[in-house]
Amino acid sequence: MDQVLELKHVCYSYHTLDGETPALSDISFAVEKGEFIAVVGPSGCGKTTLLSLIAGLLTPEKGRIRINGKEVTESTTNVGYMLQHDELFEWRTIYHNVVLGLEIQHMMTAKTRQRAIDLLDFYGLGQFKNARPSELSGGMRQRAALIRTLVLEPDLLLLDEPFSALDYQTRLHVGDDIGQILRREEKSAVLVTHDLSEAISLADRVIILSGRPASILQTIPLVFDLKDDTPLHRRNAPEFKTYFQLIWKELNSHA
Ligand code: ADP
Ligand code: MG
Repeated sequence: MDQVLELKHVCYSYHTLDGETPALSDISFAVEKGEFIAVVGPSGCGKTTLLSLIAGLLTPEKGRIRINGKEVTESTTNVGYMLQHDELFEWRTIYHNVVLGLEIQHMMTAKTRQRAIDLLDFYGLGQFKNARPSELSGGMRQRAALIRTLVLEPDLLLLDEPFSALDYQTRLHVGDDIGQILRREEKSAVLVTHDLSEAISLADRVIILSGRPASILQTIPLVFDLKDDTPLHRRNAPEFKTYFQLIWKELNSHA
């Protein structure tokens, strides 16, 4: 079994002038290669903190985090991070936004440049290469942000409520779209969200967190009896409601 990510007994607290805020308590889980994990939990429970630790932006107080068997540090670069807002720069074209990460990490070569163009073409943004972010819809901008992350070929993708800034309708489309892209590219991903439907329609497994300090209440593998297992088909499948109720109950039984 190829483990991309492993967390063992991770604890974290913020220390401020007002005192200590425990955010995570004894978090352990692993992500296999190609697996898509969703982490759900009430707002303020510690989800963003969890991703910051995995990205190496924060250091665990206790426990350890490994990516491909190696301890995570500040200089860990094989992790892609996608946030709530697409954070594209208006003064750069879509193409120049997409290659920004390559430039910063000194990875701009003929090959990586071509891959950026191929991804833009393949995912329907080819004709927007020279457009500015404001000329694109919210969903297209999220696609561009995802492509910017994908060209760096990260071993693991972290998604922090990446669709929550979009209106409901767009959010369904974009969520399904991004989910399909990640499947096609066979990426391992950890998606953090407070939207249960999003988690159930996209993930292989859902990890349910308690309120702050977050601990793992339960992990639920999602199994759908579908010929064509897409987010849209999942939403219409009978299992969807069952999973929703199960997770909802678990979240609220500890509230
Ligand atoms: P979530 O993403 O689940 O909404 P966060 O991980 O952002 O939650 O935050 C978890 C808790 O830690 C919150 O109660 C928040 O107030 C606190 N917190 C987050 N960032 C900081 C910080 N930089 N300093 C102090 N406390 C923080
Ligand atoms: Mg958050």
